[in-house]
Amino acid sequence: MYDHGAIFLASNQVARVLLGNPSESKVTWSEARFRSLDQMITDLEAAIAKRQIRGIVFASPAKDAFIFGADLSEFLNKHSIDEFKEATVQGHRIFGRVRALTVKTVAAIRGACVGGGLEFALHCNEIVACKTKGPASPLFESEKTKLALPEVMLGIFPGWGGTILLPAKIGLQAIDLILTGKDVFPDQAHHIGLIDRLAESEQLFEVAENAALSSRKPWNVQGVQWSGKGVVRDLKNYAFKEWTARYGYRMRWFDQAAKKFMGGSVTSQAAAIAQKGLQSFDPTGKLENTRTALQVILYGLKNGIDAGLAYEREQVVRFIASDRTRGMVRFHFAQAAVGEAARGVAVSLPEKNVAIVGAGVMGGGIAASFASKGAKVTLSDNRIEALEAAQKRVIGLIDKNEKRGSVTAKEAAVCRQGFTTKHERTDYSNADLLIEAISENLDLKKRVLPILEETLKPNAVMATNTSSKPVGELASVLKRPENFCGIHFFNPAETMKLVEVVRGAKSSQQTIDQAKAYVRAIGKTPVVVNDGAGFLVNRVLSRYMAESQHLLGDGFYPKDIDMAGKHAGFMMGPLDTLDLVGLDVAAEVLETMIAAYGDRMTCPTFAKVLLDAGHKGQKTGKGFHLYPEGAKAGVPITDPKTLATLFTQGLSKLHAYPDLDYIAKRLTLPLIDEAVRCLDEGVAGEPGKFAAQQIDVGLVLGSGSLAIYGGPLSYAESLGADRIVSELETLHQKTGAERFKPCDSLVERAKRGISFFQAL
Ligand code: NAD
Repeated sequence: MYDHGAIFLASNQVARVLLGNPSESKVTWSEARFRSLDQMITDLEAAIAKRQIRGIVFASPAKDAFIFGADLSEFLNKHSIDEFKEATVQGHRIFGRVRALTVKTVAAIRGACVGGGLEFALHCNEIVACKTKGPASPLFESEKTKLALPEVMLGIFPGWGGTILLPAKIGLQAIDLILTGKDVFPDQAHHIGLIDRLAESEQLFEVAENAALSSRKPWNVQGVQWSGKGVVRDLKNYAFKEWTARYGYRMRWFDQAAKKFMGGSVTSQAAAIAQKGLQSFDPTGKLENTRTALQVILYGLKNGIDAGLAYEREQVVRFIASDRTRGMVRFHFAQAAVGEAARGVAVSLPEKNVAIVGAGVMGGGIAASFASKGAKVTLSDNRIEALEAAQKRVIGLIDKNEKRGSVTAKEAAVCRQGFTTKHERTDYSNADLLIEAISENLDLKKRVLPILEETLKPNAVMATNTSSKPVGELASVLKRPENFCGIHFFNPAETMKLVEVVRGAKSSQQTIDQAKAYVRAIGKTPVVVNDGAGFLVNRVLSRYMAESQHLLGDGFYPKDIDMAGKHAGFMMGPLDTLDLVGLDVAAEVLETMIAAYGDRMTCPTFAKVLLDAGHKGQKTGKGFHLYPEGAKAGVPITDPKTLATLFTQGLSKLHAYPDLDYIAKRLTLPLIDEAVRCLDEGVAGEPGKFAAQQIDVGLVLGSGSLAIYGGPLSYAESLGADRIVSELETLHQKTGAERFKPCDSLVERAKRGISFFQAL
């Protein structure tokens, strides 16, 4: 009767509305599904009028997910503002009809309920959700149901009512969910009032139907008036504490806003303070969507739901049609394609023994990544202190997961039990996977690797975490080079989502497939790249780092260079990044890049000068910036004497009023040039769409490069090859520097008008 969906009427007069057909496993809001929902609501209204229905339960036909949000492939086919406006108005109209139904409506959720899926649920009177999306696995109960409004990550914000209805339902805690897009799991979602009732998986419909028959909680359609006390409690207990912990001093505005809120309901003054605060969190204004989202939230709280929804509609359309959102949607598909390619062999971690050798910065994080997902991990090092520090880190992560509810106490206990440390270990005979993460020294690695291989099972996968040494050369000292590859994590390993799986000349396909499966099993994204200095991410990123050194030499202040990097769309400035990586590590990497790629990587030696003066970066409290005790963000060096010793080369021509756009171009265009070289040289596999997607996913997840545009090639696609070539040529003429000459394949693409997502 409907193209997408069905209505069943139970004997208790509760209508169960399926929002799709039983064969569908991934449900999104397409135009066709909207049409079906519209028809179903008309029929429901008629049945209500005839008193045939006393309550309604909305459910997804998919077994392990509710609804994922808007259909993004339809999104990519829309171009004009009017088309997007129409889709937004349509969503508001149809969801508004759900809100206006005169019997109680309940959304019954199992599995992921994100974006427009959660927005739909918020239009219902109650949300009932089960804790997990299906039956238990051997160790973990099963994957949790999760709820999220991740729209900010696409450069927009919830535009089908979520920005108004979530704050109306749960108060100011909604700010955190909407502005970060983070996942919330059932227990916490219940605690904050987002989920009204929790159900066991098999009883979902029973609980939902009971809810539909129970009395209806009135919506406060006049707008939510916050008592001063309530707001301050919310801010202090949740938002302020959480945000301050995460963003440090930049969130002091929340405190100020709280004081202003004391008067009673939300005032425009308080909104202005909150706006100002958010501006300091986003100094370059690139994340304007986030700031507008806050404005919309506060507007809704002050003026009530109807006025709020109208304001949300008006504001969200400004962002949907942007290059940035288009880029992020492209990135969404790139991530899906890379994820799909990593499917295949599945690894059950609780049954695997993983040995990690080297318990330093990386080894500790890698161990935490595996142990927290239930693998049996043995971490070894020849330094007791390193093992002690790593142990704290691993247990700390498991404790944190337990606290935030992503694992149960029982699961956390199993994870802790599975983790051991060993000093001077030599026997690796029970390991299914061994990852070497010892110091970055070729001779040392070549000496140690054969010793590690000695006791390994013949079918075990062996990998190195090296960031710059050739995997092929390391394999040359092994008896079974076919079992060996690179599994290159990024720092900090427990949080960074990207892992490069590096194919050595002798790595077998089976080894690569196994490596990908292990990476997927710990919830990370594997990008398969070929062997070569810097592999993919560090090679491309080195152009950004090297250019930052040239800019210092040209007299730009460190803080301006970093500001311009963020302005250009990078998650971190280049000098901030160097400070995080460590100037010692970075110096080694740059040396390798220069040896491999020559002049275009060569740059002035500021990093070296700083290193010689004891500035190793964040780990020593000083690098290009200073890191006083406890500070997460760097503070600029202002002492003239220190500046003079560290930056003598550039000081004679300091720019007091720098042109941030000019710096941004210098940082961005060489990096795009290097990404295109990698594409056409086949670093990420056969040049073409998938290789381009791997490059974007690698650069965004591994380094935050041009992240707000969906990665360097997605951004290049928006700019167009001819514009990139012409801008690079202008820089070349202006500075006379050869490194700005566009590479041949970029020129060729410009000449023939070929997309970066196609082979030349
Ligand atoms: P690190 O210096 O922090 O740790 C190396 C550890 O290896 C030390 O604890 C050391 O005691 C131990 N070690 C040395 N020889 C050993 C041996 N024979 N047996 C057991 N343990 C031994 O270094 P790191 O930053 O963790 O780097 C480790 C590897 O990861 C390197 O190959 C590096 O290139 C790579 N890597 C580093 C980063 C980064 O940002 N630091 C990022 C990606 C990859």
